[in-house]
Amino acid sequence: MAILVCGGAGYIGSHMVDELLKNNETPIVVDNLRTGHRQAVPAQVKFYQEDIRDSKAMDKIFTENKIEAVIHFAACSLVGESMEKPLLYLNNNVYGMQVLLETMVKHKVDKIVFSSSAATYGEPKRIPIKETDTTEPTNPYGESKLIMEKMMKWVSLIHSVRYVSLRYFNVAGASEDGHIGEDHKQESHLVPIILQVPLKKRKAITIYGQDYPTKDGTCIRDYVHVVDLADAHMRAINYLRKGGSSDIFNLGSGNGFSVKEMIEAARKATGEEIPVIVGARRAGDPAKLVASSEKAGKILGWKAKYTDMESIIKTAWKWHKKHPNGFDE
Ligand code: UDP
Repeated sequence: MAILVCGGAGYIGSHMVDELLKNNETPIVVDNLRTGHRQAVPAQVKFYQEDIRDSKAMDKIFTENKIEAVIHFAACSLVGESMEKPLLYLNNNVYGMQVLLETMVKHKVDKIVFSSSAATYGEPKRIPIKETDTTEPTNPYGESKLIMEKMMKWVSLIHSVRYVSLRYFNVAGASEDGHIGEDHKQESHLVPIILQVPLKKRKAITIYGQDYPTKDGTCIRDYVHVVDLADAHMRAINYLRKGGSSDIFNLGSGNGFSVKEMIEAARKATGEEIPVIVGARRAGDPAKLVASSEKAGKILGWKAKYTDMESIIKTAWKWHKKHPNGFDE
């Protein structure tokens, strides 16, 4: 039976497809290619260019294939964009989840692993953040992910669907062999932006504020490697296969690194100077976000293998150096 990867042509989704193939699973991808790349999905994987909000198209995919489980990455994911277009985020993310769950219930597909986010917590009350902490998102993106989790909760209570929701912290890195990696038309994330400097696409990296109440004044985040994330999803599928009950897990590497530390790690990973400009704070950035991933360790047996920032950035650098224009060669 197959595993349907919604959003499998995106950054994390394509690494998931790679992980499934390595585990001798049969992935099928549905992606509308709004931000994904067709080239990120190997030719041998069955691919549907469809929007998950299209219930007819989804019904056809579930009719044509024997689907055992769904892994859901197909969502808009930019915090800044969500503050400008909240209704786009609610429509794509929330309505997309509705159609997906309706189709799963109709076709009696009972397992879903969902790509959630630390943005569901909002400004943390304590560090490290635990799954039981309060969820008060500070932007429509985080709110949409929280609503999607609640939709799964109610559907799981009433229909026989079980879910695992994985709340990611800051995802970075690329496949070890450098054949896939991060390629966003609109790039807002720290690691790929830092690497644009040695790629000669920008002259310097702007640090968004160095007056935060942290050790060096710059924001602290918990960076987790994309391949470690894919491993967590595989474990979540196996957990559901063994009858595991619906649950929510944080995924981080358990350590916080400041923006300045990340720039220093990138200098080491690339051997380049990487000049810095100190700019103003970016609206809505909390000073410190670090996950407790203890629960994922206990229940899923997951542990981040990449905990050293230089090694995470090295994998990203390998991808960017080989593919300076991303998938559009
Ligand atoms: N950041 C920065 N300069 C950039 C991009 C990001 O200083 O050009 C900082 C940002 O303020 C945050 C951290 O890097 O503190 C990580 O930002 P990113 O957008 O990668 O992830 P977020 O934590 O917002 O999800």
